[in-house]
Amino acid sequence: VAAAVATTLLAGCGLLPGSGDGTAAEAGPAGKVALLLPERAASRYDAADAPYFSQRLKQLCPGCEIDYRNAEQDAAGQLSQAEEALEEGAKVLVLTPVDSVAAAEIVELAADRDVPVISYDRLVLDAPVDYYVSFDNAKVGRLQGEALLSALGDRADGGEILWINGSPTDNNATLFKQGAHETLDGKVRVAAEFDTPEWKPENAKAWTARTLSGLKGREIVGVYAANDGTAGGAVAAMKAAGLPAVPVTGQDAEIAALQRILVGQQHMTVYKAVRTEAEKTAELAFTLLKGGRPETDATVDNGAGAVPSVLLDPVTVTKDTIKETVVEDGYVTPGALCAGS
Ligand code: BGC
Repeated sequence: VAAAVATTLLAGCGLLPGSGDGTAAEAGPAGKVALLLPERAASRYDAADAPYFSQRLKQLCPGCEIDYRNAEQDAAGQLSQAEEALEEGAKVLVLTPVDSVAAAEIVELAADRDVPVISYDRLVLDAPVDYYVSFDNAKVGRLQGEALLSALGDRADGGEILWINGSPTDNNATLFKQGAHETLDGKVRVAAEFDTPEWKPENAKAWTARTLSGLKGREIVGVYAANDGTAGGAVAAMKAAGLPAVPVTGQDAEIAALQRILVGQQHMTVYKAVRTEAEKTAELAFTLLKGGRPETDATVDNGAGAVPSVLLDPVTVTKDTIKETVVEDGYVTPGALCAGS
């Protein structure tokens, strides 16, 4: 009998916060947290942001519920998703806006209900955002520009590049663009520059194809591309036009991009430790659920005031540093990278 009671007690205790895997689960209120992500063309959201966020929050708060919704690039759809999540009782919103300006409406709706909003990865502008967790995004652009310059070497002077930015509705795209212009202006000649609607790789591909045919044989020595998706689009269009590989930039350390880097079709990507970003955000969300005030180390002005922020450091990845960066950090496995080879 004693043994049976002990077993039952053990099974029950396993369900209590603070027991089990020995990590820092704390007692606290259960609650619902909405995770509103913007799209699926970049692999990070479903492959890293959502699972790392959810795992960390569940670890801290086994009774919490995560309401993950993906807006698939539809800003109006994201507003409806936010309304639904609030209706269904979300106590904290973690929001990566499709449109950094339009999403102010989402933040206002949440504020009306005293639901705090963490602007996740992308900043919502001109709205009472409570917290912001992201990377130094102007630095992302500078790292891309610096890597492109060093890959171009002497060809930077004479040749022309194609320049592909991210979505004009994403505040991050503005910052990447600024950082890249800081490093490249006056050092390269730009044949044409494009803001990619909705960050869609196929839009970058179609623009590159159109632009190349208009350039009628003028030599393109490199491509500034704001992320791996747009880089993939540009590379595909150049290949289809029968052009040789040139240095191309990227961002996100996607498997497809790392494979292009390994075979010499892309020069670099920028690794952002999404796991750290997502876990930090889960910790902030949990503190907010408990009614606490999370600690931060910076502020960023979003037009409506200084938003308490956590800004992480982006890292350049080239062929020579894949192993010591994304592989050693566990972001990708050698197996996934080399599958099919
Ligand atoms: C993110 C990038 C991502 C891009 C497209 C940006 O806001 O910071 O990591 O590639 O959006 O989703």
